[in-house]
Amino acid sequence: LNLSGFDGIKWFRPTTLQEVLDLKARYPEAKLLVGNTEVGIEMRLKKMQYKVLVHVMHVPELNIMNVRDDGIEIGAAVRLSELLSNLRKVTAERAAYETSFCKAFIEQLKWFAGTQIRNVASVGGNICTASPISDLNPLWMATRAKFRIINCMGKIRTTLAENFFLGYRKVDLADDEFLLSVFLPWSRRFEYVKEFKQAHRRDDDIAIVNAGMRVFLKEEGKNLVVLDASIAYGGVAPLSLSAIRTKEYLIGKIWDQVLLKNALKVLEEDILLQENAPGGMVEFRKSLTLSFFFKFYLWVSNEMD
Ligand code: FAD
Repeated sequence: LNLSGFDGIKWFRPTTLQEVLDLKARYPEAKLLVGNTEVGIEMRLKKMQYKVLVHVMHVPELNIMNVRDDGIEIGAAVRLSELLSNLRKVTAERAAYETSFCKAFIEQLKWFAGTQIRNVASVGGNICTASPISDLNPLWMATRAKFRIINCMGKIRTTLAENFFLGYRKVDLADDEFLLSVFLPWSRRFEYVKEFKQAHRRDDDIAIVNAGMRVFLKEEGKNLVVLDASIAYGGVAPLSLSAIRTKEYLIGKIWDQVLLKNALKVLEEDILLQENAPGGMVEFRKSLTLSFFFKFYLWVSNEMD
Protein backbone atom coordinates (compact mmCIF):
# COMPACT_ATOMS: atom_id res chain seq x y z
CA LEU A 1 0.00 0.00 0.00
CA ASN A 2 1.62 3.26 -1.11
CA LEU A 3 0.39 6.20 0.94
CA SER A 4 3.05 8.70 -0.11
CA GLY A 5 1.55 12.02 -1.07
CA PHE A 6 -1.52 11.43 1.11
CA ASP A 7 -1.79 14.20 3.70
CA GLY A 8 -4.82 13.23 5.77
CA ILE A 9 -5.04 10.84 8.69
CA LYS A 10 -3.65 7.39 8.10
CA TRP A 11 -5.83 4.67 9.56
CA PHE A 12 -4.57 1.09 9.88
CA ARG A 13 -6.43 -1.98 10.99
CA PRO A 14 -3.78 -4.71 11.42
CA THR A 15 -4.80 -8.31 12.09
CA THR A 16 -1.43 -9.67 13.27
CA LEU A 17 1.01 -8.60 15.97
CA GLN A 18 3.81 -8.46 13.40
CA GLU A 19 1.87 -5.87 11.41
CA VAL A 20 1.51 -3.70 14.55
CA LEU A 21 5.26 -4.02 15.21
CA ASP A 22 6.03 -3.02 11.61
CA LEU A 23 3.68 -0.04 11.81
CA LYS A 24 5.26 1.09 15.09
CA ALA A 25 8.72 0.83 13.51
CA ARG A 26 7.58 2.84 10.50
CA TYR A 27 5.51 5.41 12.42
CA PRO A 28 6.86 5.72 16.00
CA GLU A 29 4.31 8.49 16.65
CA ALA A 30 1.40 6.19 15.67
CA LYS A 31 -1.48 6.23 18.14
CA LEU A 32 -2.81 2.79 19.05
CA LEU A 33 -6.58 2.63 19.35
CA VAL A 34 -9.09 0.17 20.71
CA GLY A 35 -12.34 1.69 21.99
CA ASN A 36 -11.47 5.27 21.02
CA THR A 37 -13.25 6.48 24.20
CA GLU A 38 -10.22 8.60 25.17
CA VAL A 39 -8.70 9.40 21.78
CA GLY A 40 -12.10 10.30 20.29
CA ILE A 41 -12.56 12.93 22.99
CA GLU A 42 -9.01 14.22 22.56
CA MET A 43 -9.46 14.63 18.80
CA ARG A 44 -12.99 15.97 18.71
CA LEU A 45 -13.24 18.08 21.85
CA LYS A 46 -9.63 18.93 22.69
CA LYS A 47 -8.75 19.31 18.99
CA MET A 48 -5.63 17.17 19.32
CA GLN A 49 -4.26 15.93 16.04
CA TYR A 50 -2.95 12.45 15.46
CA LYS A 51 -1.84 11.67 11.94
CA VAL A 52 -1.45 7.89 12.22
CA LEU A 53 -4.04 5.74 13.98
CA VAL A 54 -3.63 2.00 14.43
CA HIS A 55 -6.77 0.15 15.46
CA VAL A 56 -5.47 -2.99 17.23
CA MET A 57 -8.73 -4.61 18.27
CA HIS A 58 -8.35 -7.48 15.79
CA VAL A 59 -4.87 -8.63 16.86
CA PRO A 60 -5.22 -12.07 18.52
CA GLU A 61 -2.22 -11.66 20.89
CA LEU A 62 -3.82 -8.49 22.29
CA ASN A 63 -7.12 -10.27 22.93
CA ILE A 64 -6.00 -13.23 25.02
CA MET A 65 -7.47 -14.17 28.37
CA ASN A 66 -5.23 -17.05 29.51
CA VAL A 67 -5.89 -18.71 32.83
CA ARG A 68 -2.57 -19.98 34.19
CA ASP A 69 -1.47 -21.76 37.36
CA ASP A 70 -0.24 -18.51 38.87
CA GLY A 71 -2.89 -16.07 37.59
CA ILE A 72 -4.53 -14.66 34.46
CA GLU A 73 -2.87 -13.05 31.49
CA ILE A 74 -5.10 -10.42 29.91
CA GLY A 75 -4.40 -8.96 26.45
CA ALA A 76 -4.16 -5.16 26.31
CA ALA A 77 -7.07 -4.87 23.84
CA VAL A 78 -9.50 -6.94 25.95
CA ARG A 79 -12.67 -4.91 26.45
CA LEU A 80 -13.82 -4.15 29.99
CA SER A 81 -17.15 -6.04 29.58
CA GLU A 82 -15.20 -9.08 28.48
CA LEU A 83 -12.81 -8.71 31.40
CA LEU A 84 -15.78 -8.50 33.76
CA SER A 85 -17.48 -11.63 32.44
CA ASN A 86 -14.23 -13.61 32.40
CA LEU A 87 -13.36 -12.59 35.94
CA ARG A 88 -16.83 -13.68 37.06
CA LYS A 89 -16.28 -17.04 35.40
CA VAL A 90 -12.87 -17.71 37.00
CA THR A 91 -14.15 -16.52 40.36
CA ALA A 92 -16.91 -19.12 40.22
CA GLU A 93 -14.43 -21.86 39.26
CA ARG A 94 -11.49 -21.27 41.58
CA ALA A 95 -10.93 -21.48 45.35
CA ALA A 96 -12.30 -18.37 47.09
CA TYR A 97 -8.96 -17.35 48.60
CA GLU A 98 -7.37 -17.18 45.13
CA THR A 99 -9.84 -14.68 43.72
CA SER A 100 -9.76 -11.74 46.12
CA PHE A 101 -8.07 -9.64 43.40
CA CYS A 102 -10.61 -10.71 40.77
CA LYS A 103 -13.52 -9.81 43.07
CA ALA A 104 -12.12 -6.33 43.65
CA PHE A 105 -11.97 -5.77 39.87
CA ILE A 106 -15.49 -7.16 39.43
CA GLU A 107 -16.84 -4.73 42.03
CA GLN A 108 -14.94 -1.75 40.62
CA LEU A 109 -15.98 -2.51 37.04
CA LYS A 110 -19.64 -2.39 38.06
CA TRP A 111 -19.19 1.34 38.68
CA PHE A 112 -16.95 2.01 35.69
CA ALA A 113 -18.79 4.17 33.14
CA GLY A 114 -21.89 2.56 31.59
CA THR A 115 -22.41 -0.58 29.52
CA GLN A 116 -21.82 1.20 26.19
CA ILE A 117 -18.38 2.44 27.23
CA ARG A 118 -17.44 -0.85 28.93
CA ASN A 119 -18.35 -2.74 25.75
CA VAL A 120 -15.67 -0.92 23.74
CA ALA A 121 -13.15 0.50 26.23
CA SER A 122 -10.05 -1.63 26.69
CA VAL A 123 -7.82 -2.65 29.57
CA GLY A 124 -4.72 -1.22 27.83
CA GLY A 125 -6.47 2.01 26.81
CA ASN A 126 -7.35 2.72 30.43
CA ILE A 127 -3.86 1.86 31.68
CA CYS A 128 -1.95 3.82 29.02
CA THR A 129 -4.14 6.91 29.28
CA ALA A 130 -2.85 7.00 32.88
CA SER A 131 -5.65 9.26 34.05
CA PRO A 132 -5.11 10.32 37.68
CA ILE A 133 -8.67 9.18 38.37
CA SER A 134 -8.52 5.86 36.51
CA ASP A 135 -10.65 3.46 38.52
CA LEU A 136 -8.52 0.46 37.63
CA ASN A 137 -4.94 1.68 37.87
CA PRO A 138 -4.84 1.84 41.69
CA LEU A 139 -6.16 -1.75 41.65
CA TRP A 140 -3.50 -3.01 39.22
CA MET A 141 -0.95 -1.44 41.56
CA ALA A 142 -2.47 -2.96 44.69
CA THR A 143 -2.84 -6.45 43.20
CA ARG A 144 0.86 -6.90 42.31
CA ALA A 145 -0.10 -6.93 38.62
CA LYS A 146 2.67 -6.96 36.02
CA PHE A 147 2.60 -5.28 32.64
CA ARG A 148 4.22 -6.91 29.60
CA ILE A 149 5.59 -4.34 27.19
CA ILE A 150 6.75 -5.06 23.64
CA ASN A 151 8.93 -2.93 21.37
CA CYS A 152 8.89 -2.77 17.57
CA MET A 153 11.69 -5.38 17.41
CA GLY A 154 9.39 -7.81 19.24
CA LYS A 155 11.43 -7.67 22.46
CA ILE A 156 9.31 -8.06 25.60
CA ARG A 157 10.01 -6.64 29.05
CA THR A 158 7.94 -6.84 32.22
CA THR A 159 7.35 -4.16 34.81
CA LEU A 160 5.30 -3.98 37.99
CA ALA A 161 2.14 -1.89 37.65
CA GLU A 162 3.36 -0.04 40.73
CA ASN A 163 6.35 1.33 38.76
CA PHE A 164 4.56 2.07 35.48
CA PHE A 165 2.94 5.43 36.21
CA LEU A 166 5.48 8.24 36.12
CA GLY A 167 3.55 11.51 36.11
CA TYR A 168 0.48 13.25 34.77
CA ARG A 169 -0.61 10.99 31.89
CA LYS A 170 2.98 9.83 31.64
CA VAL A 171 3.89 6.13 31.65
CA ASP A 172 6.99 3.98 31.34
CA LEU A 173 6.66 3.39 27.56
CA ALA A 174 9.20 4.44 24.95
CA ASP A 175 8.02 5.66 21.51
CA ASP A 176 8.69 2.27 19.96
CA GLU A 177 6.90 0.33 22.73
CA PHE A 178 3.31 -0.56 23.57
CA LEU A 179 1.47 -2.60 26.16
CA LEU A 180 1.05 -6.24 25.16
CA SER A 181 -0.71 -7.75 28.16
CA VAL A 182 -1.33 -7.57 31.88
CA PHE A 183 -0.68 -10.38 34.32
CA LEU A 184 -2.99 -10.54 37.35
CA PRO A 185 -1.77 -13.06 39.95
CA TRP A 186 -4.07 -15.12 42.16
CA SER A 187 -4.32 -13.90 45.70
CA ARG A 188 -2.78 -16.08 48.43
CA ARG A 189 -4.37 -17.33 51.65
CA PHE A 190 -4.69 -14.39 54.06
CA GLU A 191 -4.17 -11.90 51.22
CA TYR A 192 -7.00 -9.44 50.75
CA VAL A 193 -7.70 -6.68 48.27
CA LYS A 194 -10.53 -4.16 48.31
CA GLU A 195 -11.59 -1.50 45.82
CA PHE A 196 -12.96 1.94 46.69
CA LYS A 197 -14.60 4.68 44.66
CA GLN A 198 -16.39 7.83 45.72
CA ALA A 199 -18.14 9.78 42.98
CA HIS A 200 -20.90 12.38 42.92
CA ARG A 201 -23.36 9.68 41.85
CA ARG A 202 -23.12 5.93 41.85
CA ASP A 203 -23.82 5.22 38.18
CA ASP A 204 -21.68 6.29 35.29
CA ASP A 205 -19.61 8.96 36.98
CA ILE A 206 -15.93 9.67 37.37
CA ALA A 207 -14.35 9.30 40.79
CA ILE A 208 -13.55 12.07 43.22
CA VAL A 209 -11.18 9.70 45.01
CA ASN A 210 -10.68 5.97 44.41
CA ALA A 211 -8.31 3.37 45.80
CA GLY A 212 -7.04 -0.19 45.79
CA MET A 213 -5.78 -1.63 49.08
CA ARG A 214 -4.10 -4.93 49.86
CA VAL A 215 -2.70 -6.70 52.90
CA PHE A 216 -1.02 -10.06 53.15
CA LEU A 217 -1.24 -11.38 56.68
CA LYS A 218 0.45 -14.18 58.56
CA GLU A 219 -0.71 -15.97 61.68
CA GLU A 220 1.79 -15.66 64.54
CA GLY A 221 0.37 -17.30 67.64
CA LYS A 222 -2.89 -15.49 68.34
CA ASN A 223 -1.94 -12.49 66.24
CA LEU A 224 -2.05 -11.62 62.58
CA VAL A 225 1.04 -9.84 61.36
CA VAL A 226 1.28 -7.82 58.12
CA LEU A 227 3.77 -9.44 55.75
CA ASP A 228 3.10 -7.10 52.83
CA ALA A 229 0.71 -4.29 51.89
CA SER A 230 -0.17 -1.85 49.10
CA ILE A 231 -2.25 1.26 49.48
CA ALA A 232 -2.83 3.01 46.14
CA TYR A 233 -5.02 6.04 45.48
CA GLY A 234 -6.49 7.86 42.52
CA GLY A 235 -7.72 11.46 42.64
CA VAL A 236 -5.16 12.73 45.13
CA ALA A 237 -2.21 13.55 42.85
CA PRO A 238 -1.38 13.97 39.13
CA LEU A 239 -0.94 10.19 38.93
CA SER A 240 -2.22 7.04 40.63
CA LEU A 241 -0.22 7.14 43.84
CA SER A 242 1.16 4.57 46.27
CA ALA A 243 1.11 5.56 49.94
CA ILE A 244 4.66 4.33 50.44
CA ARG A 245 5.19 5.46 54.02
CA THR A 246 1.90 3.90 55.09
CA LYS A 247 2.91 0.65 53.42
CA GLU A 248 6.25 0.75 55.22
CA TYR A 249 4.52 1.46 58.52
CA LEU A 250 2.12 -1.46 58.09
CA ILE A 251 4.71 -4.13 57.28
CA GLY A 252 5.65 -6.14 60.37
CA LYS A 253 2.82 -4.74 62.55
CA ILE A 254 0.10 -6.72 64.28
CA TRP A 255 -3.31 -6.25 62.60
CA ASP A 256 -5.18 -4.60 65.46
CA GLN A 257 -6.70 -1.28 66.49
CA VAL A 258 -3.32 0.18 67.43
CA LEU A 259 -2.28 -0.36 63.83
CA LEU A 260 -5.47 1.31 62.63
CA LYS A 261 -4.94 4.38 64.80
CA ASN A 262 -1.30 4.81 63.86
CA ALA A 263 -1.77 4.01 60.17
CA LEU A 264 -4.38 6.77 59.90
CA LYS A 265 -1.85 9.23 61.33
CA VAL A 266 0.86 8.12 58.90
CA LEU A 267 -1.60 8.22 56.01
CA GLU A 268 -2.56 11.81 56.80
CA GLU A 269 1.07 12.85 56.34
CA ASP A 270 1.65 10.49 53.43
CA ILE A 271 -1.11 11.73 51.10
CA LEU A 272 -0.70 15.47 50.98
CA LEU A 273 -3.22 17.57 49.12
CA GLN A 274 -2.38 21.25 48.75
CA GLU A 275 -5.17 23.73 49.49
CA ASN A 276 -5.22 24.73 45.82
CA ALA A 277 -4.94 21.18 44.43
CA PRO A 278 -6.68 20.82 41.03
CA GLY A 279 -10.11 19.27 41.45
CA GLY A 280 -10.97 21.24 44.62
CA MET A 281 -12.92 19.65 47.52
CA VAL A 282 -9.60 19.25 49.33
CA GLU A 283 -11.05 18.62 52.80
CA PHE A 284 -13.51 16.07 51.43
CA ARG A 285 -10.82 14.28 49.45
CA LYS A 286 -8.52 14.18 52.49
CA SER A 287 -11.26 12.63 54.59
CA LEU A 288 -11.99 10.09 51.84
CA THR A 289 -8.39 8.85 51.85
CA LEU A 290 -8.67 8.18 55.57
CA SER A 291 -12.18 6.76 55.58
CA PHE A 292 -11.30 4.30 52.79
CA PHE A 293 -8.50 2.93 54.96
CA PHE A 294 -10.83 2.76 57.96
CA LYS A 295 -13.34 0.79 55.87
CA PHE A 296 -10.56 -1.43 54.59
CA TYR A 297 -9.45 -2.23 58.13
CA LEU A 298 -13.01 -3.18 59.14
CA TRP A 299 -13.55 -5.22 55.98
CA VAL A 300 -10.32 -7.24 56.39
CA SER A 301 -11.02 -7.84 60.08
CA ASN A 302 -14.48 -9.09 59.17
CA GLU A 303 -13.08 -11.42 56.50
CA MET A 304 -10.81 -12.97 59.14
CA ASP A 305 -13.68 -13.84 61.52
P1 FAD B 1 -8.50 4.46 23.43
O1 FAD B 1 -9.20 5.79 23.40
O2 FAD B 1 -8.65 3.58 22.24
O3 FAD B 1 -6.95 4.70 23.76
C1 FAD B 1 -6.59 5.44 24.90
C2 FAD B 1 -5.08 5.66 24.95
O4 FAD B 1 -4.40 4.45 25.24
C3 FAD B 1 -4.47 6.17 23.65
O5 FAD B 1 -3.46 7.09 23.94
C4 FAD B 1 -3.93 4.91 23.02
O6 FAD B 1 -2.89 5.18 22.11
C5 FAD B 1 -3.43 4.18 24.23
N1 FAD B 1 -3.38 2.73 24.07
C6 FAD B 1 -4.41 1.88 23.85
N2 FAD B 1 -3.97 0.61 23.81
C7 FAD B 1 -2.63 0.67 24.01
C8 FAD B 1 -1.60 -0.30 24.10
N3 FAD B 1 -1.85 -1.61 23.98
N4 FAD B 1 -0.33 0.11 24.34
C9 FAD B 1 -0.05 1.44 24.47
N5 FAD B 1 -0.98 2.40 24.39
C10 FAD B 1 -2.25 2.02 24.18
N6 FAD B 1 -12.43 5.72 33.13
C11 FAD B 1 -12.44 5.25 34.41
O7 FAD B 1 -11.39 4.87 34.93
N7 FAD B 1 -13.61 5.14 35.12
C12 FAD B 1 -14.80 5.53 34.60
O8 FAD B 1 -15.83 5.42 35.29
C13 FAD B 1 -14.81 6.06 33.27
N8 FAD B 1 -15.98 6.49 32.73
C14 FAD B 1 -15.98 7.01 31.46
C15 FAD B 1 -17.18 7.47 30.92
C16 FAD B 1 -17.22 8.02 29.65
C17 FAD B 1 -18.52 8.52 29.10
C18 FAD B 1 -16.02 8.08 28.87
C19 FAD B 1 -16.01 8.64 27.48
C20 FAD B 1 -14.82 7.62 29.40
C21 FAD B 1 -14.78 7.09 30.71
N9 FAD B 1 -13.58 6.62 31.28
C22 FAD B 1 -13.59 6.13 32.56
C23 FAD B 1 -12.32 6.66 30.53
C24 FAD B 1 -12.17 5.58 29.41
O9 FAD B 1 -13.34 4.92 29.11
C25 FAD B 1 -11.10 4.56 29.71
O10 FAD B 1 -9.88 5.17 29.95
C26 FAD B 1 -10.98 3.46 28.63
O11 FAD B 1 -10.61 2.27 29.30
C27 FAD B 1 -10.00 3.73 27.51
O12 FAD B 1 -9.98 2.60 26.64
P2 FAD B 1 -10.11 2.72 25.06
O13 FAD B 1 -9.92 1.36 24.51
O14 FAD B 1 -11.38 3.42 24.66
O15 FAD B 1 -8.87 3.68 24.75
